Amino acid sequence: MPEGIKRHALALAIMAAVCAAFIPPVALARKPTPAAPAVSCLFNDGHFHLTNYVQQGTDMGKYVDAIMGDKVCRSTVFGIPLQQTWSFGNSGDFAPTYYLQSDAPLYYYSFTDAYIANAYLKLKPEQRQRLDPMITGFNPADMYAVDHIRRVLETYPGVFSGIGEFTIHKEFVSSKVAGEIASLTDPALDRILDFAGEVGLAVILHSDIDMPFAKAGAEPVFLKQMKDLLRRHPRTTIIWAHIGLGRVVHPVQDQATVEAAERNPAYRALVEAMITDPTLSHVYFDISWDEVAKYAVASPESIANTSAMLNKYPERFLFGTDNVAPAEQATQMRVYDMWAPIWAELTPEASLKVRKGNYERIFDAARARVRAWEKANVR
Ligand SMILES: [Zn+2]
Repeated sequence: MPEGIKRHALALAIMAAVCAAFIPPVALARKPTPAAPAVSCLFNDGHFHLTNYVQQGTDMGKYVDAIMGDKVCRSTVFGIPLQQTWSFGNSGDFAPTYYLQSDAPLYYYSFTDAYIANAYLKLKPEQRQRLDPMITGFNPADMYAVDHIRRVLETYPGVFSGIGEFTIHKEFVSSKVAGEIASLTDPALDRILDFAGEVGLAVILHSDIDMPFAKAGAEPVFLKQMKDLLRRHPRTTIIWAHIGLGRVVHPVQDQATVEAAERNPAYRALVEAMITDPTLSHVYFDISWDEVAKYAVASPESIANTSAMLNKYPERFLFGTDNVAPAEQATQMRVYDMWAPIWAELTPEASLKVRKGNYERIFDAARARVRAWEKANVR
């Protein structure tokens, strides 16, 4: 067991013993509330896909009982709004299940929301308490997208806490989407974020900060548009997925080059500038995806820098796995354990916020606000 994890397990065991000593037996017998999940669990998953690019995935009950189990306290849950076409003309008998496996287009598959809602409604109440389902099945380049979101809330009241992960710019994906290209400057997106703010839906937005293989030293291409967009929606809680990074949208191009040494602090500086900007105080950053974990633990310097950032601004970052349709708990733990060198460097307070507290604050507020909106607007 890595040292950081061992230390966590020990700290949690001590906390549990101390709590048990002070809480009367009647309180201990009560079911854990979503705000106070079982003490032994390690994290909340702020970014989780139940199904893949061909809408296949993990049974939701199995996800809660066997995969979250006693390790993951609470979890967001969503599908993937984009469906990979199986074009016989392109790949013949080969059935692609991932966007990199075919040249055929992706299209928006709105039924994903009904699928997620129906699976959620079949769960027992104590299983539901641990999940925050999200609406994803809309085209963010469509002025009617907002009507889809409203319709899903009206059809399945009591289910959803937010919208996303949905995508504006994503390397290799955006150019494969059928129809109009999504843009951070599209008024259709403004309508979506306005409505999310009105209802109280938490938003998980994926938009790469830069184009793939961008030139080192230049300002990331999409940064200004992203900041302008976020500033137009101060009433909406927005989580920027993966802090804008991707598989080839790097925080550093190549550790060995001089440009890389310059680009790395530049990236940290631009994230810090966003965190300290009072016009962006409604914005959070998710550190999900094993690709992001790879950057964070790539070197002793990256570990030190990332830990320093999380310790300095612990209320602005959320952990998540970004796993897609996992078959077993080990898949979730693998992403969590990749962060072990950084967990070990965090203060107990920062660690707790990034692993659990920020999720609870954001999604408890979203649940309460969306339920209130439904009560007032859905009959
Ligand atoms: Zn994702």
